[in-house]
Amino acid sequence: MPSPSAAHVPSPAPARGSGSVVIPSSVVGGAASDAAFMRRAVELGARGTPAPNPHVGAVVVLEGRVVGEGHHERAGAAHAEALALERAGAQARGATLYVTLEPCNHHGRTPPCVDAILASGVRRVVFGCPDPNPHVKGGGAEALRRAGIDVAYGPGRSEARALIEPWLATLAERAKPATASKP
Ligand SMILES: [Zn+2]
Repeated sequence: MPSPSAAHVPSPAPARGSGSVVIPSSVVGGAASDAAFMRRAVELGARGTPAPNPHVGAVVVLEGRVVGEGHHERAGAAHAEALALERAGAQARGATLYVTLEPCNHHGRTPPCVDAILASGVRRVVFGCPDPNPHVKGGGAEALRRAGIDVAYGPGRSEARALIEPWLATLAERAKPATASKP
């Protein structure tokens, strides 16, 4: 029996887990919805065991509705935003991507997320905190802006930052021997 709400059939690979977050249309597009969707991204980002990579969560929102979600499950696996966009599929076109950490713009074990974002047709990207990784600093957001994407940063900043604390500690630890080894 087809559901009467067939107009809202999710993409073939719907977001897993604890259901979607629906924000009242009265606040869609406003700062309140940015904060709410970023909270959801932070919630997702807390999942998985990505060490030594950072915890990252992402949500793709089209017209106030979550159409894709993702988190970085483990090192070597897809990045949160790439996964969320993949799950959103065609619904990413014109959508807003919320991601807790500034998207990467360099080749690691996976291709740069900036490329996936540009290919997806997302119109706006909101990230929680800038990437302090020296390969990335200013890179991801800047590349998106240059490509004409509306980029915002800040909602849920402290929560997003808290997510990456263990990773920041790892980075600091890695950086230490290089300077400490000098007599
Ligand atoms: Zn990435």
